[in-house]
Amino acid sequence: MPKPALSFRPRDVAQSPRLAAPYQRPELEALVARHGSPLLLVDCDVIRAQYRRLAAALPGVDLHYALKPLPEPAVVQALKQIGGFFDLASSGEVELVRSAGVDAERCIHTHPIKRDADIRDALRFGVRTFVADNADELGKFIRHRKRVRVLLRVAFRAVDAVCDLSRKFGCDPEAVPELLTLARTMGVEVVGLSFHVGSQTPTPAMHVAAVEACGALIAAARVAGHNLSVLDIGGGFPVDYRDTAMSIEEFCAPIRLALAALPAGLRLLAEPGRYISAPAGTCVATVVGRALRDGRWWFYLDDGVYGSFSGQIYDHARYPLHALREGGQKVPAVLAGPTCDSIDVIDDQIELPLLEVGDLVVGQQMGAYTSACAGDFNFIPHARVLAVNAQDPVPGAGQA
Ligand SMILES: *Cc1c(COP(=O)(O)O)cnc(C)c1O
Repeated sequence: MPKPALSFRPRDVAQSPRLAAPYQRPELEALVARHGSPLLLVDCDVIRAQYRRLAAALPGVDLHYALKPLPEPAVVQALKQIGGFFDLASSGEVELVRSAGVDAERCIHTHPIKRDADIRDALRFGVRTFVADNADELGKFIRHRKRVRVLLRVAFRAVDAVCDLSRKFGCDPEAVPELLTLARTMGVEVVGLSFHVGSQTPTPAMHVAAVEACGALIAAARVAGHNLSVLDIGGGFPVDYRDTAMSIEEFCAPIRLALAALPAGLRLLAEPGRYISAPAGTCVATVVGRALRDGRWWFYLDDGVYGSFSGQIYDHARYPLHALREGGQKVPAVLAGPTCDSIDVIDDQIELPLLEVGDLVVGQQMGAYTSACAGDFNFIPHARVLAVNAQDPVPGAGQA
């Protein structure tokens, strides 16, 4: 059986002294001088702090970090250090946690649509919990039925989420009873339900409604003799971009109440991705050229929407940006990326100091869905990922 064609070269881990946000100009200049530009700094202190803060806001819920928004070895290590759990969706992600030495028992595989090879790769690593949302997908587990436990993914439409993920995956709530019966005839063990209401959801209303609906489905299933014991509430927890999001404590308070009202004896999981990784990422890019066009300054960076700013296209995110040059009058400007494509404009309504070639521009909250979806269009390499603060300064202060 061929291995996935991926190798995880150890990414750069900065040996520099600890960095504390907000990063200072000399620190960033030193990192660029040493490691080149553009950079995507990933602060492992922030990864751990976000995980702990969400764990405190959702007590009793095992947080499985969804690798998709920032699949970095240093992030996996940082979470492994504090006893984190992981959510995988591809054989490459399986390989990443495996090579990081993560215990397979701490991992679930949640892609609703899989090839048999995906299932086998995850099983070979030791993952047991998978997700399905229709009869065909349940059928794929028949040959593996002695080794798998399945969560049925249910769709609840989140029309107000920035990225509605219930359009693409999940069964209708009404289909749950018949899928449970079908799984039983197949000999495939369904242990619970999952949902993912969408990403960067502005309010917890959809999570609450979905938890309540799943509670009713689980109670009815138990009456019908299906002993469901797991509920996975997915991801979607929001972070600040240029607009401020609800604090995570405020966001989770009503979800906690809904979880407390669930039928007894449920193990609770969540699959946060963005909330853990977005605040940990800082993009550092360099001005490589400038031009005055129609009375407006265009500043060209070595990173753009085909690189770390790809989240502006795929994820509809608008990142807080600032230039490190101090003082001077600000001018109306356009910040553009390095490729020859006209779509490669980061911001055409921005006020910046009059920048010069070599100046640094910093983007914040750029850890999620940025470098993960970046490419090398025009043969212009995307940003090098550089982990900082890899070691936990408070070892042992992990999740209870
Ligand atoms: C992308 C994804 C997540 C993470 O979602 P966030 O909104 O980034 O928290 C979790 N679970 C599944 C199944 C996903 O596809």
